[in-house]
Amino acid sequence: MSIPILEVVDLHAAYGRIEVLRGVDLAVPKGAVMALLGPNGAGKSTLVKVISGQKKPTSGDVHLGGVNVRGAGSEELARLGLCTVPEGRSVFPNLTVEENLRLMSYAGVPTEAVLDTAYSYFPRLSERRHQLAGTMSGGEQQMLAMSRALASDPALLLLDELSMGLAPLIVDELYDTVAQIAASGVSILCIEQFARTALRVSDYAAVMSGGRIVASGEPAEVLETMSDVILGGAA
Ligand code: ATP
Repeated sequence: MSIPILEVVDLHAAYGRIEVLRGVDLAVPKGAVMALLGPNGAGKSTLVKVISGQKKPTSGDVHLGGVNVRGAGSEELARLGLCTVPEGRSVFPNLTVEENLRLMSYAGVPTEAVLDTAYSYFPRLSERRHQLAGTMSGGEQQMLAMSRALASDPALLLLDELSMGLAPLIVDELYDTVAQIAASGVSILCIEQFARTALRVSDYAAVMSGGRIVASGEPAEVLETMSDVILGGAA
């Protein structure tokens, strides 16, 4: 078996004295889409923070493409191919769509390539290229946040609650694009409350509860055995 793009080994993390990650083990195979599901408070966002270098773990390891990146900063992680779309999006509201995208043409990525990638995945952004990002709908802002992440040509895309506050139809549309992005060879870990939608485009699923992974495997199998945990509040 080839080296996973992401491997998390016995990861622990805490806020003060409260342990929130209690020995997380997770592996995302190269080229796969994995859905990480679980109820509120399970520790999913904390896991994203540790993987993306925003929070230090108390123990355990994170490997990216076989390289141990525990404690690495966001620049090093980006260089190794990790890009995160954080919960709640991250666009500059007072800049236009195109200005937001132009900001991403760092590290030698030509602006035209950034724009072409964004507009080919999300033609709607092209129609709205001169609109201020803050005046766009939640779904359109999420498209822009995803485009900004794609600008760095990631090997692994970490999507935290893509569906947050969006109508089901838009969520479906975004996940269709997630499938297209995956088809281009990008590995994806998507953290989701909308279990069914995420599972539709996933190769694997893992369920987190109480700071641990409590189930993982094929999406249909996980959905069947864990439906009470993962369909608790949302479908
Ligand atoms: P949700 O889907 O509701 O965001 P989650 O699975 O992403 O849930 P986390 O946000 O990782 O879970 O939270 C895990 C636990 O850690 C929760 O009990 C939460 O209250 C706690 N927690 C999260 N952030 C902090 C913080 N900054 N300080 C203290 N406790 C926190």
